[in-house]
Amino acid sequence: MTTTLITGANKGLGFETARRLIAAGHTVYAGSRDAERGRRAAAQLGARLVVIDVTDDASVAAAAKTIEADGGLDVLVNNAGIEARAEGNNVVGAAEVTADMMRSLFETNVFGVVRVTHAFLPLLQRSATPVVVNVSSGLGSLSLMTTPGTPAYAYPGVAYPASKSAVNMVTVQYAKAFPAMRINAVEPGYTATDLNGHTGTQTAEEGAEIIVRMAQLDPDGPTGGYFGRNGQLPW
Ligand code: NAP
Repeated sequence: MTTTLITGANKGLGFETARRLIAAGHTVYAGSRDAERGRRAAAQLGARLVVIDVTDDASVAAAAKTIEADGGLDVLVNNAGIEARAEGNNVVGAAEVTADMMRSLFETNVFGVVRVTHAFLPLLQRSATPVVVNVSSGLGSLSLMTTPGTPAYAYPGVAYPASKSAVNMVTVQYAKAFPAMRINAVEPGYTATDLNGHTGTQTAEEGAEIIVRMAQLDPDGPTGGYFGRNGQLPW
């Protein structure tokens, strides 16, 4: 039996990932920072609810304690993330971005990944097949962001891409530190969710595809990589 925690599973890509992994036979803890939203999602999914706010040490520690008491964890999907757009669903551009905006975005997208990974490491280390999937973005790729003509190149924001580049580096460093685990970053692709006011061009089913695939890696699968639906991405 494979036990999986997905942060931010009450909607969007996290919800769809939970649905698919449950169908594949995983026991899924659907993470939600809001108990009521989480209860509704978990009931719909047939998942176990765990309340977890990735920006809050006490919340993350309590979630780890609960899952440890229930028997441990094999797969961690660090999915919770924010883009923090401005009024009218506009991306906050370089002239408007402030250190405070950047700090709150990093608190969820980067420090949240570290906070949750750190708390669940002891559980993952006891698993025979530990896997971590960090949900990054193509916007975290320095190569794509500097290649004219790619969709990423045209993105005007500063904070969100920087946070996902940091997620990529965190992924690489964890993967080297824990070679017994499969730890990868994934790019779901531009997907219609609340994050972008449903402007994304893919469905949640399409976006979750690579998350689901990397959550089911065999122990001899890749680690320390960066993958999209169509294969490896340039850092
Ligand atoms: P979404 O529908 O807005 O879902 C985001 C999820 O994260 C929600 O469940 C949200 O909970 C949760 N969350 C936010 N802050 C949290 C916190 N502090 N603690 C715990 N949970 C928190 O967005 P999505 O598109 O599915 O995004 C999922 C991941 O995919 C993110 O990491 C995002 O950066 C990444 N991604 C998305 C796209 C895309 O085009 N959609 C592309 C590339 C990467 P609430 O409901 O409580 O807010």
